[in-house]
Parts: sequence; structure tokens; C-alpha cells
Amino acid sequence: MHSDTTTANGGEEPPSGPCSSLLKQFRSAGRGFWHDVSDSDWNDWRWQLKNRITTLGQLERLMPTLTPEEYAGTQLANHKLALAITPYFFNLIDPADEHCPIRWQVIPRVEETHAAAWEMTDPCGEDSHSPVPGLVHRYPDRVLFLVTDRCAAYCRYCTRSRLVSNATGYDFHPHFDEQIDYIRQHPEVRDVLLSGGDPLLFSDEKLEHLLAQLRAIPHVEFLRIGTRIPVFLPQRITPELCAMLRKYHPLFISIHSNHPRELTTEVRDALGRLADAGIPLGNQSVLLRHVNDDPTVMTAQLQKLLMCRVKPYYVYQCDLISGSAHLRTSVRRGLEVMEELRGHTTGYAVPTYVIDAPGGGGKVPVSPEYVLSRNADRVVLRNYEGRIFEYPEAPDGTPKGAPPREIEEPELV
Ligand SMILES: *Cc1c(COP(=O)(O)O)cnc(C)c1O
Repeated sequence: MHSDTTTANGGEEPPSGPCSSLLKQFRSAGRGFWHDVSDSDWNDWRWQLKNRITTLGQLERLMPTLTPEEYAGTQLANHKLALAITPYFFNLIDPADEHCPIRWQVIPRVEETHAAAWEMTDPCGEDSHSPVPGLVHRYPDRVLFLVTDRCAAYCRYCTRSRLVSNATGYDFHPHFDEQIDYIRQHPEVRDVLLSGGDPLLFSDEKLEHLLAQLRAIPHVEFLRIGTRIPVFLPQRITPELCAMLRKYHPLFISIHSNHPRELTTEVRDALGRLADAGIPLGNQSVLLRHVNDDPTVMTAQLQKLLMCRVKPYYVYQCDLISGSAHLRTSVRRGLEVMEELRGHTTGYAVPTYVIDAPGGGGKVPVSPEYVLSRNADRVVLRNYEGRIFEYPEAPDGTPKGAPPREIEEPELV
């Protein structure tokens, strides 16, 4: 006898294991320390920004379990990259867990002050590819348009920490007129990616002014925004913002999330509002030690993103930003994680693993090897299970018809 609702172990354990199913549950971040705050304040993105945790004093009060590494890191942090965490996002930290994957992303650690010899302040060589300040023109047909140096919260591994949060005195002041003029004068630029800092920190009016000017340039076919605000500050994704954004299609948004716990009910609802406005959503993750360099965690994260209507776009090898060694995992580990994705789960869930080439070569894909050999007459492949297959080709490279059959002479007995 069998039943649909029970399993061999009495129905306790779902097929994918308890770990994965717990990771994939959608929960609210809750109110935590802010249970007294009114709903209207809590759900107001400007309240969240005003009440961010930005000092060691606040952090100590809210988190008595601060470790010596975090204490020292926070004392020194403001010299490299400011501390800022929205109350909403702070509630996702597990104060009892020293290895909490949320904690490692936003709470400064003393290791940030140790720069390895191969680490850099501008690891992707952006400043040397900027024809005008705030515009990075690395690829032939598209530009990265930096609109601000501020974010809702600061990721400790930020690749742009030389300017983001203005802790090191870079004094980033974009000149939108110059940036837009450059795009206007370069008809090869068909794709503009707004980033920073976080473009969604702007008021609707200020952001709309920028989008409208870009949309008015005939050769700009495609607009996109890179933002972590849906994850750090889902309250910002108001119906009014969505109604404004949808006027500038085709407009894509890339969000940045790294761990399934970041995908709360609040985030799912915010992403649903963007998707309902017709905005295709992608995700960019950074492969981080203690956070997501594990196939179970990564798979849960990617599957949960699909449940939020987000297509995983890139997973980045952690850039060689100064003071990030404690968060870096090896390319070998990255490839092991990738190996557990392709074929094992939905193809839509599988991002492209890339290394942003140190010094400014752009994003280079790295992938487990599936082509075992390629000769004049065949490609030898392995699939996700390790089984071997041959794809025959004609020696001149044109596709082959039916493979030639070798006819064996029957042996005489
Ligand atoms: C990542 C990036 C882009 C966009 O690259 P896609 O592969 O098209 O997403 C454009 N310019 C710069 C400088 C970038 O770093």
C-alpha cells in the first residue's frame, strides 16, 4: 500500500531534504527591536533610511553578541566603507550565530583592514575606462552609468568601495549632463546600465528625469538598473515607483541577493510589483565564503529567486577588492557549486559564473568542462551525471548527416 502524502520516514522529510526546504520557506523579516514603531513608519522607506544603524554604539546596543572581530572592524570601518544597515535588513541577522550569512555581508570585520598584496582599490579598472567621470565604457555597445555613491546599506565586499559611501574621500560627484552628452554623441551605445551606489535611492522625480533624458536618445535601445534596494529596502518599491518605471520600457532590473534568507515575504511582494509592471528581473550574486559557497544553499537561493519571478543572471567570483580575503572562496569551489546546478535543476535557475577580469578585461565566463575533446570529426561530451556522449561532425566543420556505419564482416567459425 502506498499513499501520496507520506514518505518512507513517516512524512517528516521532504524529498529535497529538510535543509533545503527550510531555506526555501518565505518568512517576514518581522519587527524585531522596532516592535513599537507604527506600521506607517516601518513601511515608509524614508523612515527606514533615517533609522539605519550607522554607529558602533547602535550596533552594540542592538547586538550584544558582537564579536571582537566585528567590534574592531566597526571601529575602523568608517575609514574604508561606511557602516549602514536598514532596520528591516538588520532583523534578518541571527545574533546567536557568529556565522550568520547575513551578518558576514553587512557587519564590518577587522579583516577588512588587512589588504593582501594582490588586492586593489579599483579591482576592475573602472577609473581607467571612464571617458567622463561616472561613466564606464568598457564594452563596445554599452555603458555603465554611475548615478550616486550612496546605497541603502553597504556590502562589506563592495567592488566600488573606493567611491561608494565616500568613506575614503573620493568625492564622487556625477555630472549627468556630461554623462548624457557622451551617450548622445556615441551612437554605438545602445544599452545603458544605471548603477552606483543605488539608483533607486533617488526620488521618483529625480530618477524619472534621468530615465526620460536617456529614453529620448534614439540610439539607446535598452535601459537597465542595477540595485540592491529590493533586498535592503523593499519598502522603496512603491506602486508609484513601479508606475513611473513602466513608462520607460524596455527597462530591465538586476537585483543583488546572495542567500535565500534575504528573500523574505516583503522582498517577494516588492519583486512581484516590479514584475507586474512588466520589468524583467535578473539577479546577480557574489560567491562568498560563509554565505553561499555551498551547493545546497546556492540551489535553494536560485530556486527561490525563480519563485520571486527573478532569473538568476550572474554569479560573480569575488573581486580582488582590498580587504575581502575573509569573504573570498576559490574558483575551484565556485566550479564545484556550478557543477551541482546544470542538469540537476531548472535551466532558468542556472546563472553564468563570471570573473570580472582584474585590471579591466570585463566579465569572463568560467564553467565546469563539459566538452571532453573536440576533433575534426567529433565532439565528445559529458553530461551532468558524468555519462559520455559523442556528437559526430564532418571534417570540414559542416554538420554531418547520418554517421557512417562500419559494416563488419561476420567471422567464420
Ligand atoms: C557588468 C558591466 C556591464 C554589463 O555587462 P553585461 O554582461 O552586458 O551584463 C557593462 N559595463 C561594465 C563596465 C560592466 O562592469
